[in-house]
Amino acid sequence: MQNGNIQVIESRSALAHLPEGNVFIPTMGALHDGHAALIRHGARVADGRPIVVSIFVNPTQFNDPADFARYPKTLQNDLDICRHAGATHVFVPPVELMYPRGMDIARAEAATIGLPPVASHPRLEDAMRPGHFAGVYQVVWRLFEFVRPSEAIFGEKDWQQLQVIRAMTERMNTKFGLTIKTTASPTIRESDGLAMSSRNRFLSAQERSIAPVIHISMTEARKFREVADAEAHMRNRLTGAGLSVDYAVIRDAGTLLPLSPGADRIHSRILIAARLGSVRLIDNAAWE
Ligand code: AMP
Repeated sequence: MQNGNIQVIESRSALAHLPEGNVFIPTMGALHDGHAALIRHGARVADGRPIVVSIFVNPTQFNDPADFARYPKTLQNDLDICRHAGATHVFVPPVELMYPRGMDIARAEAATIGLPPVASHPRLEDAMRPGHFAGVYQVVWRLFEFVRPSEAIFGEKDWQQLQVIRAMTERMNTKFGLTIKTTASPTIRESDGLAMSSRNRFLSAQERSIAPVIHISMTEARKFREVADAEAHMRNRLTGAGLSVDYAVIRDAGTLLPLSPGADRIHSRILIAARLGSVRLIDNAAWE
């Protein structure tokens, strides 16, 4: 289907119209300026390659059914954003195309995926959202098979996910002799520092006015020399503002494991997950 000047691909047969070697931006829809920045990043590096956005709310990566049920669906607006940001194709697969053997089997298959250490050792999102990275791994692997990109762009906003996908892509490249490149794109923030997220719309006006404390606490953490002091400061700042903290830590930026003594700050990353009312927010930043 042609929608304006973008091709919308919704079936297996239409996939034949998707040229391989494209630049690919996977999303779950409910697009905002953060996603638009990823698509524009894709357009800048495309050098003639098609720019493909996928929109698929992947059931197997939601460990909370209520979160899945209320995930916003805004397809017409999403297509406008894709078009304006420079996408050439939008892949909107029905769930039966992604998981032809049904959801029970898809979930069972996700549970058997051998994940890289960064998806299970850090005790961050892996511990807070059991099964989440298995679902992410499954869906990105499957999307890569369908879309056949030469490059895929992911946001730094989901830092642990980015590391998991890098490890997955390396494995896929080795296994199939591919050369898919993963590219990271910086986090886009509101003017008060809150990282853009499809879930921000669920914040009440009062919660929305509190939420920038996440970004503020990360900025303040840079003033401390010791990891423990910086972590304690962030936790106090967040709980003091009324957030319930899942974690507020400084870790090795690649492995996401605790820093070894004397480790260089340049290789570290601040990572926060905290709940504000019914909304769980995650963010991260360099610690320097
Ligand atoms: P999602 O639709 O939330 O699954 O995200 C799709 C892609 O957009 C992922 O690579 C995210 O990391 C990225 N993304 C989400 N929010 C932002 C943001 N505020 N800035 C940059 N990238 C983002």
